[in-house]
Amino acid sequence: MAQISKAEIEQIVKQVISGLGAENSPKSSTVGEYTSTEYKGRKLVGIFSDMNEAIAAANEGYKAVRAMSVEKREEIITEIRRLTRSEASVMAEMGVKETGMGRVDHKTAKHMLVADKTPGTEDIVSEAKTGDNGLTLVEMAPFGVVGAITPSTNPSETVICNSIGMIAAGNGVVFNPHPGAICVSNYAVDLVNRASKAVGGPEILVASMDKPTMDSAKIMQTHPLIRLLVCTGGPGVVRSVLSSGKKAIGAGAGNPPVIVDDTADIVKAGKDIIDGCTFDNNLPCIAEKEVFVFNNVKDRLISEMTKNGAYIISSAQADALAQIVLVDATDKKTGKTKKVVNRKCVGRDAKIILDMIGVKVSDDVRCIICETDFNHLFVQEELMMPILPIVGVKDIDEAIELAVKAEHGNRHTAHMHSKNIDNLSRFAAAVETTIFVKNAPSYAGIGFGGEGHTTFTIAGPTGEGITSARSFTRKRRCVMADSFRII
Ligand code: NAD
Repeated sequence: MAQISKAEIEQIVKQVISGLGAENSPKSSTVGEYTSTEYKGRKLVGIFSDMNEAIAAANEGYKAVRAMSVEKREEIITEIRRLTRSEASVMAEMGVKETGMGRVDHKTAKHMLVADKTPGTEDIVSEAKTGDNGLTLVEMAPFGVVGAITPSTNPSETVICNSIGMIAAGNGVVFNPHPGAICVSNYAVDLVNRASKAVGGPEILVASMDKPTMDSAKIMQTHPLIRLLVCTGGPGVVRSVLSSGKKAIGAGAGNPPVIVDDTADIVKAGKDIIDGCTFDNNLPCIAEKEVFVFNNVKDRLISEMTKNGAYIISSAQADALAQIVLVDATDKKTGKTKKVVNRKCVGRDAKIILDMIGVKVSDDVRCIICETDFNHLFVQEELMMPILPIVGVKDIDEAIELAVKAEHGNRHTAHMHSKNIDNLSRFAAAVETTIFVKNAPSYAGIGFGGEGHTTFTIAGPTGEGITSARSFTRKRRCVMADSFRII
């Protein structure tokens, strides 16, 4: 491990902070040969400058979906899947270039996952109840026009995943994407519209904004045509949407802990944790963010991690890094200073982050690990970068107590490596997360190497969980009293 003095570290921290800037400024909406309205000279379809116009267009899309057969909806979805597969690497490259976050190979895999494992119209099922008093039918009906807010971390993946589910359910959709990922998000909106047109659907099936802002989000949140809000993002935006007075689905922040006990297959745990933690440079909200490992297997786990691309830094280096990847910001509510993640470090390669404290490593290094105590900022904050703090614990009681605290009551995602079913069951029950992955990398929890469908909108706060088409429906009942039975 490279050794540097405290004075050197302080000097480097000063230089890096002044170079990076501490602000969370929005990105421009032009990236090389594409913008939020054009891709290589081709005008993107369904993109508006005015949210009211975007909503009106999405409403026309909704009317068209209502008028079409379920078979036709499925035909459009099949074409969306086909285009997503064939343009996965285009969107992956665009996403990395525009946001500066994540990895092209992993983003390509995420698009493939969305194309292959997002449920379509088969997810919409009706219920029938028969008895002495006849027949009652319950159907999953669309809400109408859905207003969707999408993040910068999985931008086009979320737009396409939401579109498939919302259209399968018979809704129209208007997006207010993250401004820092607007070009790739709008590319995905255009892809959905191209798919619709290609199989005879409406030219504009889903709509978006050329320059989304908080104001355009507000218009969306209060517009009478918007019947459902679906928000995928951090705590601020989820809170805002949930207090809008409309029906809302909130998919918010996580800080997934991992417990490793002394019955675990340590070789597999070391590899799985690094694979999960480094997937798309830790951008997925489900990715491993901190480890609680039994003291008697800690060194072995660290050794396995380092065999799988992890680079261990000292506690002094970890403190120096913390001053760079976390910056001061004023809490709008309390006026107090608090630490927030430096957006310029989110989703960066481990090699680039290490370079910020003067540590040069080869391209094989994909994760930075460090031993810390429970109170370290790396444990407490959702960093969304390939930095993984490791906290030693004496037993399962301490592991569960600390892991539950580190999850901060998000009830989002947690992971465990163990062969002790009592320990696994105790942690699962205590942490109460929407996703709990046992003995696998985190991404198994969204259908990547694990059973079950995928989503990029995991709605813990509002309870829909791993959202799919049926999450975007409202139940309607039709009663035929005293007849229509066949027995
Ligand atoms: P973010 O919170 O910075 O922004 C999300 C979107 O909300 C953007 O479009 C942004 O412009 C908008 N926005 C922010 N504040 C708003 C407000 N008050 N009113 C209206 N719009 C507002 O999200 P991000 O940084 O791109 O994503 C990272 C966060 O999202 C992490 O906390 C991550 O855990 C979470 N996330 C959760 C899920 C999930 O499925 N639960 C999925 C992806 C990301």
